[in-house]
Amino acid sequence: MAFLIQNAQVWDGENDERYPAEVLIERNRITAVARDKGQLRRDGAEIIDGGGMTLMPGMVEGHCHLSFVGPARNQDLGEIPPEEHLLRTCRNATLILNHGFTSCYSAASAKMRLDVVVRQEIEDGYLAGPRYKAAGPEITSTGGLGDERKQHMHAESFGMIADGPDEVRRAVRLCCREGVDNIKLNISGDDFVTNAGAEITSMSEVEVATAVEVAHEWNKRVACHSRAAASVKRAVRNGVDCIYHCDFADEEALDMLEAAKHRVIIGPAFGLIHNAVFEGDAAGVPREFVERMGLARKLELTCRTYEQMRKRGMKVVVGGDYGFKITPMGQNARDIGHFVKFFGYSPAEALRCATSVGGELMGHKGELGVIKPGALADILLVDGNPLVDQSVLVGPDRLAMIMKDGKLHRDPRARSSARGRLAAE
Ligand SMILES: [Zn+2]
Repeated sequence: MAFLIQNAQVWDGENDERYPAEVLIERNRITAVARDKGQLRRDGAEIIDGGGMTLMPGMVEGHCHLSFVGPARNQDLGEIPPEEHLLRTCRNATLILNHGFTSCYSAASAKMRLDVVVRQEIEDGYLAGPRYKAAGPEITSTGGLGDERKQHMHAESFGMIADGPDEVRRAVRLCCREGVDNIKLNISGDDFVTNAGAEITSMSEVEVATAVEVAHEWNKRVACHSRAAASVKRAVRNGVDCIYHCDFADEEALDMLEAAKHRVIIGPAFGLIHNAVFEGDAAGVPREFVERMGLARKLELTCRTYEQMRKRGMKVVVGGDYGFKITPMGQNARDIGHFVKFFGYSPAEALRCATSVGGELMGHKGELGVIKPGALADILLVDGNPLVDQSVLVGPDRLAMIMKDGKLHRDPRARSSARGRLAAE
């Protein structure tokens, strides 16, 4: 299979501007990009007219929860039987690909095998979905984020509870046995739960060190939930690869992150707090809760932290904890506009966080999230210019073409012929 896309404005995932170009795709790779018209030989390739639209890399969701199927409370996830849960997770996989995300890095699966099974079904070609890095549940300590129990009362959400190095070692090995790509640790608590708050560092030094040691021995990357400053430092010190949130990182934590910036990737997962503060009413988050938890002030702190991250040249990915009731799956690309509006990123910088930086998180640095010869052919045609208006990437309507791994998930020719029919009628 080969495609030649002509008459497009290419944003290549690296530069600050678009430029007119033609792109040749053979099998699952981009094999040529030419800035002048008629430079590339057709050689049996199907021609696609880009119609002057933006041709850009498929987006990468850096903090994805395909198995979070719209819960209002974390424990709602624990009340879905595995069979229904798997089907609903499959639906999310197709939905997120329809929204232009051709790669997703999981930040936890609500049940041990949901991510792993869905990833396999996608890789085997039976389910339409993104490239997927599967995780296990969130490994957490008693009373930490993901422990929903009360004495005498059983309850579950997305957590796997492990206390002390022996239990943590066993939990990580269990995830490895079941075939995950990434391990997730909850090192701090969170304000959206009742026990350990966001500024409590709930997982001990030896537990984090043990988890990372075992995971790396099995060649698995480690991601963590760290809001408190001490939890960020604990993550950096012990070699965690991907650190989420970092809201309350102090000067020392920022310095440590900067010193490790060649190896650490960071994700704010900003959508959750954004929607709670600005759109909570519509989603049933009581205003009283937002005020009691001081979420508006905490959102402010997060914005200041990520201004620093940008200035210090940290590698940051988009991904906003979409999949809860207040952050419906499919809104994911809103994060790009948030980076511009709230963190002071330029549009091109924010788009890189959703493409080339994400490609590195997926383990394909320089060949995923970019448009250049040799890159994997994950490509969008967008009706609009996301360097001017990032909202054109939100919702599937403006995505004329979605190509993953050289295969058309959405064919732009179907769209233009439908438009032609409407015009004729
Ligand atoms: Zn999350």
